[in-house]
Amino acid sequence: AASRLPQLLELCKRRSILLPSYALYNGLRGALDYGPLGVELKRALLNEWWRAVVDARDDVHGVDTPILTPCDVLRASGHEAGFCDPLVDCRLTRERFRADKAGPLLPSLRWRVPISAPDKGKAREWEKVIRERIVPGAKVTRDGRVVYVHLASRPKAPPADDTSIAKMAESLCIPCPGYAEPSSNSPFLTEPRAFNLMFRTHMGAGEIDPTATADTSASAAAGPVGTPVYLRPETAQGIFANFPLLYRAAGKPMLPFGVAQYGKSFRNEIRTEKSVFRTCEFEQLELEYFVAPDTAAAEQWLDRWKHWRLAWWRAYAVNGGQQAGEGEDANVFRLRPHAADELAHYAKACFDVEYRFPWGWGEVEGVANRGEHDLRQHANAVRSLAGIEVPCSVDGNGKMRKGVPWVIESSAGLNRACLVYLLDAYTVDASAEAKEAGDGNGEAARTYLRLHPRIAPVQAAVMPLQRDQKLIDTARKLSRQLRLAGIRTTLDVTGASIGRRYARQDETGTPWCLTIDFDTETDSCVTLRERDSMLQTRVSLETAASVLRTRLDE
Ligand code: ATP
Repeated sequence: AASRLPQLLELCKRRSILLPSYALYNGLRGALDYGPLGVELKRALLNEWWRAVVDARDDVHGVDTPILTPCDVLRASGHEAGFCDPLVDCRLTRERFRADKAGPLLPSLRWRVPISAPDKGKAREWEKVIRERIVPGAKVTRDGRVVYVHLASRPKAPPADDTSIAKMAESLCIPCPGYAEPSSNSPFLTEPRAFNLMFRTHMGAGEIDPTATADTSASAAAGPVGTPVYLRPETAQGIFANFPLLYRAAGKPMLPFGVAQYGKSFRNEIRTEKSVFRTCEFEQLELEYFVAPDTAAAEQWLDRWKHWRLAWWRAYAVNGGQQAGEGEDANVFRLRPHAADELAHYAKACFDVEYRFPWGWGEVEGVANRGEHDLRQHANAVRSLAGIEVPCSVDGNGKMRKGVPWVIESSAGLNRACLVYLLDAYTVDASAEAKEAGDGNGEAARTYLRLHPRIAPVQAAVMPLQRDQKLIDTARKLSRQLRLAGIRTTLDVTGASIGRRYARQDETGTPWCLTIDFDTETDSCVTLRERDSMLQTRVSLETAASVLRTRLDE
């Protein structure tokens, strides 16, 4: 299972689902383009989310707020002071890591690490200690007084004893030349320090004054300077900061009332990783659901939302996210409650929706009871509760009580959703049946994406059996009909063998192929070929669109 990611990414690149961004210019760290098929997958997932969270409900409205965010907003929300990850530097490689991730990352360093000893004798001594005690089994070479540790060649298994590599190195106190004043003797990692993840820029014509804050820049006497702003690190603050207007626009409803927003968010991640799992620019799907400030009611809504959201994730997974096995092994999704020490100080409870990635469980969405924190912070910053205190409940005498709503938040990552469903759908079938029914390409196995039809980039591929004008004309007509029925359709008039064309569609997850052959003219039927079972049936040209539409809407 662990090898699924590289194979999948190779497929994604070959079939233009995900492509490296700005490849001609050596790329941009961690950034990826969504090619023609990737963009359809992403759009389909976004539509499914919007349908479930906004269209299907009468208590949730949509909004679209700016990416550029005033510093004041993110100061009030607490991001300016606290939206940080713990950062450590590796003194040997000058790489940076998130402190909480550095441990597991260290053994996978792929560097040829030079360590300069004061003299040859010392270098010989170090070479022995490093080979035998720090990275046993690794390739260690020496050139004069420089010892090279080839970490990529280190065996995968951890060192025999239970001490971690960093700890062993630390205990040996190997000094690390080339670094001024190391704060400890460890050749690996410095003490963690807080690193703010927000990208800051400025608005308006004028130089950037690095010392300017939102308060000082407007009145700066030294000439025009830009107003500092941040690229938002989450879409949520656009909703909280505009709550009074959004509430009024919704007709001042009784609570609960929700606002949903999707869009790009930006975080200067210390390390980007695992394709689109962690990038600096990503898309979020967020819902802020405002409920009465009442512990029992809020707990009930949190409970509902966490189960609704888990069900949403499962709905598009192969077999509804259910696999052979028992307990946790049987599910590819789970809800994980945050432990007390993991919970943000203001949050009352939080559950992560996690997916079983090939490298372990990873968060795809957080569902939290944030209490009144967000609205209260903005009210405090502008010193006004106007529009933030709203009617929440009716007291015993029938009088309306006002209060600051509490927030149940659901915050999902659209890019992680793409990765989850691509990984989940990636199937290599080496069975005899698959080979026999395959396209005759001589491949050892059949590779295909078992994407749910509603999120497949292409839902139907129409193909004339041969490059015959009559067949092509019929195929064109059919593909038009399918498109009119709202089915994402492609027309394949390449002259490749039909088996090869099926295989190409399977590889990108197209659930249905419709083939026009020479019988079509006489029986007005086409061959409907199913991706997963490879079964072929005849359906009439006239009903093909409604047959597929019905299956999509099931
Ligand atoms: P993580 O612990 O993985 O860094 P987080 O707890 O910081 O995630 P949230 O702030 O809760 O994430 O953001 C909500 C969702 O946004 C996450 O569940 C994830 O799907 C997505 N997300 C967050 N950071 C990134 C990123 N750097 N790249 C891609 N998606 C992200």
